[in-house]
Amino acid sequence: MGTLFRVVLYASDDADAARTAARAFERIEELEQKLSDYREDSELTLASSEADEKPVIVSQDLYFVLDHSQRFARLTDGAFDVTVGPLVQLWRESRETGRLPPRREVERRRALVGFGNLLLNPLTRSIRFARKGVRLDLGGIGKGFAADEAFKIIEESGFSIALVDAGRNLRLGRPPPGERGWNIAVKTVGENTLRLRLSNCGVATSGDSEQSVEIAGQRYSHIVDPTTGYGLLESRQATVIAKNAMTADALATAFCVMRPGQSLSLSEKLEGVSVRIEYLEGGQGKTVESAPFPP
Ligand code: ADP
Ligand code: MG
Repeated sequence: MGTLFRVVLYASDDADAARTAARAFERIEELEQKLSDYREDSELTLASSEADEKPVIVSQDLYFVLDHSQRFARLTDGAFDVTVGPLVQLWRESRETGRLPPRREVERRRALVGFGNLLLNPLTRSIRFARKGVRLDLGGIGKGFAADEAFKIIEESGFSIALVDAGRNLRLGRPPPGERGWNIAVKTVGENTLRLRLSNCGVATSGDSEQSVEIAGQRYSHIVDPTTGYGLLESRQATVIAKNAMTADALATAFCVMRPGQSLSLSEKLEGVSVRIEYLEGGQGKTVESAPFPP
C-alpha cells in the first residue's frame, strides 16, 4: 500500500506482545495482496481486468471496502471516488516524466471515471463495470481499513491499549496507562504542528503532501478532482477524526477535493466525525474546524 505500518501495544509479557504484533502484520500483508493497485497480481488488479467483461466474485475484504467506498462516494457527491484509477495512473506517469499529460488523454480517461460505473451485487458478492476500461484505486481508503483490521486482531488478543499507524492514518485504542490519550502530532501547512490527544478512534490527514508533482511552476496533488480530471491545485490539508480509521481516511481524501465550507457542513451531519481543514485563500492561510475540535 506504499506506506510503512507501525504497531504499538502495551502488554505485560514480551513474547505475547511480539506474537500479537506479528499476527497484525500478517493481516496487513494479506490485505496488501488484496487491495493494492501497485501489484499486478493483487486481487484488485486481477478482478479489475475481468470486471470489464462480466461480474466477478470477490473476497469479503475487497467487497467490504468497495461497498463502503461507494457509500463515501454518495455521501461526498463523488468527491471521493475509487474509479479514479485511470486518472491516478496518468498522473503517476507525469510525476515520472515531469510533463503534463495531453488534455485529450485527461478527457478520455475522465470519461471512464464515475462511481456509477462500478456495480456491486451483494447477493453474489460480485463486482462489474458499466463500461470497459474502468479501473479502481483504493489508495484513499485501503490504509485506513488495514489499520482497523490490524487493530481488531490486537484487540481480540486482549490488548486494548494499542495503536496502529499506517502513514498518516491511525487507529487508536485505549490510552496508555495514566494518560488522557495518545499524543498525536500532525505536520500541518508550513512548518506548524497540530497536537492532539486522542483515544478509541481513527484519525487521518490528507493533502498538501510531499506526494505532489510540480510542472511548469504549478503544483498538482496526488489527489485527483474527479470532475476536472486534474490533480488538485489547491493547497489544502484535512485532518479527520472518526470512529474508525477507514472512515477518517476516506473523508480526509474527500475533504481535500470539496470546498472547506461544504466539508464542514457534511461532517456536522455525520455522527462521530470532526474535521480541521487548513487551506490557502488569496495567498492567505485559513483554517476551519468542527466545534469543538478535537471532540
Ligand atoms: P495518502 O495516500 O497520501 O495518505 P490519501 O488518503 O488522501 O493520501 O489518498 C490519496 C490516494 O487516493 C491517491 O494516491 C490515489 O491513489 C487515491 N485518490 C486520488 N484521488 C482520489 C479521489 N478523488 N477519490 C478517492 N481516491 C483518490
Ligand atoms: Mg484517504
